Amino acid sequence: MSFSKRTFFKSNKSKILTLKGNNYIIFEMKKLISNYHTHTFRCGHALPNPDEDYVKKAIALGYKNLGFSDHAPFKGIHHPSMRMDFEHDFEDYISSINSLREKYKDQINIYIGLEIEYMEDRDGYYKELFNKHHLDYLILGQHCKYDSNGEPIFYPNFINDENAFERYVNDLIKGMKTGYFSYVCHPDFILNYYQFISLKMDKLMDKICEVAKELDIPLEININGETNNKYAAMRRSCYHYPCPVFFEKAVKHKNQLIFGVDAHAPQDFDKVDYEYFEEFLKDLDADRSLILDKLEFKKK
Ligand SMILES: [Zn+2]
Ligand SMILES: [Zn+2]
Repeated sequence: MSFSKRTFFKSNKSKILTLKGNNYIIFEMKKLISNYHTHTFRCGHALPNPDEDYVKKAIALGYKNLGFSDHAPFKGIHHPSMRMDFEHDFEDYISSINSLREKYKDQINIYIGLEIEYMEDRDGYYKELFNKHHLDYLILGQHCKYDSNGEPIFYPNFINDENAFERYVNDLIKGMKTGYFSYVCHPDFILNYYQFISLKMDKLMDKICEVAKELDIPLEININGETNNKYAAMRRSCYHYPCPVFFEKAVKHKNQLIFGVDAHAPQDFDKVDYEYFEEFLKDLDADRSLILDKLEFKKK
């Protein structure tokens, strides 16, 4: 981040004036027309709005593509504050989104997906989600794993746990290599538990970007991380996602990038801070052609 690239002053809500050479140039981030990261009340930590509220909000704001990707259920795992239940919620989720897709088909494209962790020992389940439940897409959000009793295992055991960082990156990469996932959600979310970036962590972040590039998997700039989720990390004096240190690498590796609202409430769509993200991209010198307007689904 150099001073010459910093924003000089803001002209109004959506435009930023920046001094380049002797000229003021107006930068404006394109309004989002697609979002593939939308939760529902079933995950237990989103607002209790009906699914339709998200659709109406997206239409009102001019979105063309809306993907629902609530936290995936796993058979036999009951984690009511984190994810929907396979036995009780999954069918209802699919039928609700399907009927909204039909009802609003003239106004917006609606897709059914899930945000899901990758666990090697459940590999058959991912195939089943496509072949039996006919999902359009999966996005990889590696928050935790589950032991054989269905107990969650989160990655860091303590702040700055370097080995946990390595376990996270290894699992993320294992998941990316399966071909099930259309993009990686908040690839840098684990930084919420780190106050320092060691050389080892730095190399591991490069590794995520290298593999994503090799496999053509977009990396998400997670809007919710900035809007709602950063405060807990800030109280710990930790980094938070989306983290410029990570995305500087992604830009260097020429990774495809995609914004995800990660909506847990319809009003999260209103909270997208275009000015902030305009500056975020500008400070990284990000080539705007790296940013996707539309996602190509990968299905294996
Ligand atoms: Zn969530
Ligand atoms: Zn999410």
